[in-house]
Amino acid sequence: MTRSFADRHIGPDTDAIDRILDTVGVGSLDELAERAVPASILDATAANGLGILPPAASEHEVLDELATLARSNTVAASMIGLGYYDTLTPPVLVRNLLENPAWYTAYTPYQPEISQGRLEALLNFQTMVSDLTGMEVANASMLDEATAAAEAMTLLRRANRSSKSNRLLIDTDLFPQTRTVLFTRAEPLGIEIVEADLAANALPDGEFFGVLVQVPGASGRIVDRTDLIAAAHERGALVAAGADLLAMTLITSPGEQGADVCFGTTQRFGVPLGYGGPHAGYLAVRTAHARQLPGRLVGVSKDADGHLAYRLALQTREQHIRREKATSNICTAQVLLAIVAAMYASYHGADGLRAIARRVHGQAERLAAGLGEAVVHERFFDTVLVRVPGGAEAVVAKAQGRGVNLRLVDADHVAVACDEATTDENLAIVLDSFGADGVPNKTALPSIETRTSEYLTHPAFTRYHTETAMLRYLRQLSDKDIALDRSMIPLGSCTMKLNATAEMEPITWPGFSRVHPYAPVEDAPGLLRVVEDLETWLSAITGYDRVSLQPNAGSQGEYAGLLAIRRYHLDRGDTHRDTCLIPSSAHGTNAASAAMAGLRVEVVKCRENGDVDLDDLRAKIADHADRLACIMITYPSTHGVYEQEVAELCALVHDAGGQVYVDGANLNALVGLARPGRFGGDVSHLNLHKTFCIPHGGGGPGVGPVAVREHLAKYLPGDPLEAGSHAVSAAKYGSASILPITWAYVRMMGADGLRRATLTAIASANYIARRLDSYYPVLYTGENAMVAHECILDLREITKRTGVTVDDVAKRLADYGFHAPTMSFPVAGTLMVEPTESENLEELDAFIDAMIAIKGEIDEVAAGTWPLENSPLRGAPHTTASLVGDWPHPYTRETAAYPLGLTSPRPKVWPAVRRIDGAYGDRNLVCSCPPLDAYTD
Ligand SMILES: *Cc1c(COP(=O)(O)O)cnc(C)c1O
Repeated sequence: MTRSFADRHIGPDTDAIDRILDTVGVGSLDELAERAVPASILDATAANGLGILPPAASEHEVLDELATLARSNTVAASMIGLGYYDTLTPPVLVRNLLENPAWYTAYTPYQPEISQGRLEALLNFQTMVSDLTGMEVANASMLDEATAAAEAMTLLRRANRSSKSNRLLIDTDLFPQTRTVLFTRAEPLGIEIVEADLAANALPDGEFFGVLVQVPGASGRIVDRTDLIAAAHERGALVAAGADLLAMTLITSPGEQGADVCFGTTQRFGVPLGYGGPHAGYLAVRTAHARQLPGRLVGVSKDADGHLAYRLALQTREQHIRREKATSNICTAQVLLAIVAAMYASYHGADGLRAIARRVHGQAERLAAGLGEAVVHERFFDTVLVRVPGGAEAVVAKAQGRGVNLRLVDADHVAVACDEATTDENLAIVLDSFGADGVPNKTALPSIETRTSEYLTHPAFTRYHTETAMLRYLRQLSDKDIALDRSMIPLGSCTMKLNATAEMEPITWPGFSRVHPYAPVEDAPGLLRVVEDLETWLSAITGYDRVSLQPNAGSQGEYAGLLAIRRYHLDRGDTHRDTCLIPSSAHGTNAASAAMAGLRVEVVKCRENGDVDLDDLRAKIADHADRLACIMITYPSTHGVYEQEVAELCALVHDAGGQVYVDGANLNALVGLARPGRFGGDVSHLNLHKTFCIPHGGGGPGVGPVAVREHLAKYLPGDPLEAGSHAVSAAKYGSASILPITWAYVRMMGADGLRRATLTAIASANYIARRLDSYYPVLYTGENAMVAHECILDLREITKRTGVTVDDVAKRLADYGFHAPTMSFPVAGTLMVEPTESENLEELDAFIDAMIAIKGEIDEVAAGTWPLENSPLRGAPHTTASLVGDWPHPYTRETAAYPLGLTSPRPKVWPAVRRIDGAYGDRNLVCSCPPLDAYTD
């Protein structure tokens, strides 16, 4: 038989589906749809919006189509700059990291014992950033430079407790996209942005809580900020500086000049331009502000045997705890790209990076020498600003005609940025476009090299300069981790499904990866076609009218969607509508996003059965009446249930003049069956890195498109290069280079394949629920005792009775070779399991067998066979090292390491460390690479 792509993507074959459905107690997938999904929202197949999708194509057909699209893009020499530079990704990193499923299919390292590889790589990233910027603690990572600047802004405001001011001073020489995003993010928070030319380091009058500058500036100029920072501190303001990491190898860092915070991007460290992304932004602070850092922070701790081990530190899951008081809404970050950047630094080392920086600067100097008097600034790193009165457009056009893109600053100025990929031929074309003669060899400019401090001296940056060493380092690290290439990852709410190779291949093709986000539109017809198709297809799938692909994570989609609601009300004169109702079961990002969008959060209760309590909702609507801005629900709910009354819920809010936000992270339970834009939603975000096959990359990248009904369309985020456009990312199409993944998925699945995937995901979740319910009760079910695409296993009774916790079960699963399900979200003391459609029946059964076997171990503890403290559950996970030498346990080594027996067909994945003591690490915070001797005691 010929198998379609859908047959390869979907794990269970028809026989397996029959067995699954038999256990679930339904006769067919169609019957499953009718039994599981409320009739009031279920679309008839013919009317589910998917009719407009092109018929399913094979992998090779789709690769051909994408190759044609990629070829239609022009890969010009990108000398536009503005924070995006062409870079030469070492092939060893392309193949063994960027294109390697061991790295790209991993999840955020919440289970640190089976994530030591990527945690170490991220610690290298943090070390690299803090070294180069001269700061003490860096996170891993931010979504791009512009959002990192916005996070720096709010961090300064939080950190500066002594300032009563709501004013932020920014230099006029920031990147324009950074400026736009700062304005977007400042306005709802009541932060007033004051702009001034800070070239002379003189502060304007008045009080400020913070000052934002950038080195080098957008114009390329380098200004020493020591005096400005001192003056700002004197005035009671804190200072954040954007810093280009390659420039930092040569010039004194803002950290050394006294800055409190640094932000920026690590794109030019080996991460392809990608028409805007994905790239890792960064944020780095002084130790005093470490607890203010948003996002993920990797820290060093120790495991149960006293060995050094890494895990996420401090505020990692703070959104789930602090909700609207969280420091930020960032959840998915840019882990894969952060690791590429860190490995690029490891591969080149300090001297290699310095050599690249000198070459780049040398080329800029030669350009400047060739252009003479027309050059505006004397001190620059890679970007030369050139004065050409009235002639700028002609110069840019001439260079473009010869394959080099320059930046048109205004009618009289052109900026030219050099990078690692710039050739002498490019320089000759540029000079010729300005009407200057050949490229001079030497220049007489004073040196910019002011940096005297060392950086990247840790072995992580000195040991891997040969390809053999790097190859083995990458393999050694990824071997420590469980990613989808080794096991199912049944993380509820995260949808860890197949990321097919055919979907992944195109993203490193130059036609998609080497286009600058601000290249002329005529350079990118293929990319724009992918964007347009996806906007159309996702609109059809969700039932909305318009889609923006700009937000580069789910959290950013939430933010963009809530901003749209806010602006809609304001435009209608409903200035009092500032209240966002959020059910208690919501994902933590929801409340954090609402706060960032300037909304007050009011919690709506859930009923005993997990559904939103409509009586409480009515009461809350009455209480807040004309202050009601919106409700933010997740559908199906974070409890994994299709709530029957969703249409009624939406109507109640609409009748009160509110808008309905439907968090679409659970769309894997809806595609082809029901459309949030049709059953009451006004706006949703989707997670392409969940439902639509973009891999999680160990914690990013992500794409979080925001979809709206027509009345909100004009409030979608605009072009970041346009002031006041309400852009939420630095690039118009966000992480454009990974959109071909979703394009390929939809194209290869077709309407039937997508619907079958959804139904299979639901069938498999119900299968697990049925089979495990008598061991671990399923907490919530909907109509007909069905769950949606995930199920919550309630361990609270077990914990009360035996002391065995969800942690114990999660860690013990590692001994069985599995990644744990989602722990304690949305209900503490539970595990949420989401199998997705991609796991076959053997894998589902293996997981179920492991869970049943673990229940058997729990029973042994309950029966007194083993004391809990000295049981395989509490001792989990077990490393190879723990098995040799003394064995002080009442259970055998075999029980520890091969609980299903030595002949179990499932390959053993050895955890690299034993249970990690998280609290110890938080008390003794270390967030950069520890010295090597720390590993030995
Ligand atoms: C994953 C998730 C989010 C956040 O998405 P990110 O891409 O991590 O920012 C929001 N809501 C729900 C229900 C989710 O599962």
